[in-house]
Amino acid sequence: MKRAIIVGAGIAGLATALRLGRDGWRTTVLERAPGRRSSGYLINLNGPGYDAAERLGLLPALAARALGDFTTTLIRADGRPKFTVPPGLVGDRFLALFRGDLETVLHEAVRESARFRFATTITTIEQTPTGVRVKLSDGTTEEAELLVGADGVHSATRAALFGDGFEVEFPYRVAAFPITGPAESAATTFIGPGRTAAKLNLGPDRSSAFFTWRSEGPEASVRSVFGDLEAFGATIDGMGPDAYLDRVSQVVLPRWSDGRAVLLGDAAWCVTLFAGHGAGLALAGADRLGEALSRHGDDVPAALAAWEAGLRPAVTKRQALARRGMRQYVPPNRFHVWMNDLMIRALTVPAARALIRRGLERQNR
Ligand SMILES: Cc1cc2nc3c(=O)[nH]c(=O)nc-3n(C[C@H](O)[C@H](O)[C@H](O)COP(=O)(O)OP(=O)(O)OC[C@H]3O[C@@H](n4cnc5c(N)ncnc54)[C@H](O)[C@@H]3O)c2cc1C
Repeated sequence: MKRAIIVGAGIAGLATALRLGRDGWRTTVLERAPGRRSSGYLINLNGPGYDAAERLGLLPALAARALGDFTTTLIRADGRPKFTVPPGLVGDRFLALFRGDLETVLHEAVRESARFRFATTITTIEQTPTGVRVKLSDGTTEEAELLVGADGVHSATRAALFGDGFEVEFPYRVAAFPITGPAESAATTFIGPGRTAAKLNLGPDRSSAFFTWRSEGPEASVRSVFGDLEAFGATIDGMGPDAYLDRVSQVVLPRWSDGRAVLLGDAAWCVTLFAGHGAGLALAGADRLGEALSRHGDDVPAALAAWEAGLRPAVTKRQALARRGMRQYVPPNRFHVWMNDLMIRALTVPAARALIRRGLERQNR
């Protein structure tokens, strides 16, 4: 039986373990954290990500956890509503989910077939023409016919294979974390010059807050950037130590594999949250990797090359869309805020709404 070592038990790593496990590989998943990381923020799954979830057989379990449609109220800095966008913009092949629910569904699908080693990471990678040997942080070694680095945007596997310098940093930061408090069945969003705050509170385990802001100087806290927004005061008070907090960066690599070692997901191509397709691409990448490996038999390097050639155009498109979309998430000045408002307000007009919906469907293909 062929063996694969997968570094990272995130969306990309678990999806790879699922697809390869189904294709007859024995998979070992190494995760740096001491346990599963099931928390997270709201993600949308559509286009290639939705298609991959369907092929991986995940749709029934995901649909059962999906959030459904909700209204979004855009507010001013003093909390007064500007306008409300009704539900119903998204098409049929679309799911809004918490990242933690996607992680749970993937974990349930692989927990019997994959071997998990938590609190473990790789320290060195050695390749021969027939295999890969990795040394681990606990002093042990693992051998396999394939190594998959799915260890996220700051990937240690990437550094071990290709060195540093492939993260393109943008002058934005992001914070996301679960929230508590009475359910509101609606999202609240504030978009101002250089900053956006949003919260969705649909009840226990179905609520999260999201903040993104322009930041060129030293690291500023969420409170110092958003503390004046009364509507978000209690939300910021509830920010715990396990909140997701990072700068926004893309990963741009000339190639995603070296011999029998391959990078997948944010480790290879992080498109950023501004693209809204990172989890989807992780699922699609894992599914297509399994397909390429099945097609090329024992020639792993040929499978990896074919896989990358097929996937790269979709990634390049998403990275470009994300770079263009940054102004929408974090408008640089009042004029751009006004333009943004106009665009979002158009969503409340049925005719414009239909047009925008068709445009989004085309873009998501
Ligand atoms: C606020 C926000 C909103 C988003 N919205 C969307 C959206 O709407 N739609 C969408 O498709 N995507 C969205 N994304 C992007 C999406 O969440 C990511 O692209 C996706 O989760 C990446 O999955 P991954 O498995 O590649 O990386 P990660 O989820 O980062 O997983 C990497 C795993 O590797 C582990 N790890 C790290 N280093 C090591 C190491 N050295 N050794 C072992 N393990 C290690 C980590 O602990 C983690 O478990 C959003 C992201 C953010 C931040």
